[in-house]
Amino acid sequence: MTTVEAPASHLRENPFEIARDQLRRVAETFQIDANLVNVLQECKKSVGVSVPVGMDDGSVRVFQGYRVTHNIARGPSKGGIRYHPDVTLDEVKALAMWMTWKCALMGIPFGGAKGGVVCDPKRLSRGELERLTRRFTTEIINEIGPEKDIPAPDVGTTAAVMAWIFDTYSMNKGHSVLGVVTGKPLTIGGSLGREEATARGSLYCIRDVVAKGEFALEGARVVVQGFGNVGSYLAKFLAEDGALVIAVSDSGGGLHNSSGLDMKAVLAHKQETGALEGFRAAEAISNEELLLLECEILAPCALEQVITADNADRVRAKVICEGANGPVTPGADEILEDRGVLILPDILANAGGVVVSYFEWVQGLQEYFWKEEEVNQRLDDIITRAFDATWKLNEERGTGMRMAAYGLAVQRVAEATTTRGIYP
Ligand code: GLU
Repeated sequence: MTTVEAPASHLRENPFEIARDQLRRVAETFQIDANLVNVLQECKKSVGVSVPVGMDDGSVRVFQGYRVTHNIARGPSKGGIRYHPDVTLDEVKALAMWMTWKCALMGIPFGGAKGGVVCDPKRLSRGELERLTRRFTTEIINEIGPEKDIPAPDVGTTAAVMAWIFDTYSMNKGHSVLGVVTGKPLTIGGSLGREEATARGSLYCIRDVVAKGEFALEGARVVVQGFGNVGSYLAKFLAEDGALVIAVSDSGGGLHNSSGLDMKAVLAHKQETGALEGFRAAEAISNEELLLLECEILAPCALEQVITADNADRVRAKVICEGANGPVTPGADEILEDRGVLILPDILANAGGVVVSYFEWVQGLQEYFWKEEEVNQRLDDIITRAFDATWKLNEERGTGMRMAAYGLAVQRVAEATTTRGIYP
């Protein structure tokens, strides 16, 4: 008999416990009423569904799916759908809570949600992926809607997946419902600039730090972990701004060149081969080693918990820009804080995606679409406003950027909840 070992999950700690713990520490620092913390530390609704899919080989496989709404005090819930083998209910709950804080910090009128399906999209055919998406959408059809809960892309999902969600929902309603999902392809009501938006938001944050005189972007050494939607565009944008991207990685490993990678060539190689591996003008480097390279900007843009108490003391970056959600554990946070590393926290640094999702939702509801420069300019305004407020609070209170960002966000949600009152 052969035993197949389950691959180790990237989650070493329970992310929902981390998220709740963060909330409690924020509440302590900013003296938020304990009754409100009791409300905010729970998710409003968690739905688990089984998703049977007819596979190409004639078999039927049943996948586990989730949709969680954390909070709707400030508006309908918003958040992506993740397709990944390590998805768990507690991960989805943590990500939903972080979406609530992210939307509040940005000042956009949404609450927080997240969804996930336990699957490996890289091992599914296009047909299987479409059937899985359509069935999952059908299973959660009463949970979502333009005034209720609006999904979007996340790790492992694409514009094509959003198109199937849009179509499935619309076919069931009998008419096209543009506002039900964001991150749609441009041909069916997507927004210009949405695809690049998360990376662009990170770029604007980094420019804001640079404007504070921390260092010059021209020639700054950049390390990007994760080469999906966020990491690949961020590396491209930073290289265009004159930074020296010295290392990038995807799930298969990394590339390192201390004199700077030719990002155009790297992007072309990834496009052609589907991987970074095999790119000539660089040395191979593991994901673990890459995180420890000396640099001005380290941008973890893949999954949670890559910088932990085990490696934080060896991280040699000036600034950590969290392109991913939850890449730094609280244990690592303390170590980095003590060592004076500046952290641009996830709910600030990767909020560009949901901000342009908000623009897409508004454009869809109005059936009136904006120019790309308009989208980017408004995104910059919102990110920079949030950055300035976070920077100011950190200067006033000396809390660190993460605590300041979370503090602003949680206070806004707490205030909305108090103003509305607890029903009935
Ligand atoms: N999944 C992205 C995030 O974590 C985008 C969510 C959205 O656009 O609604 O922020």
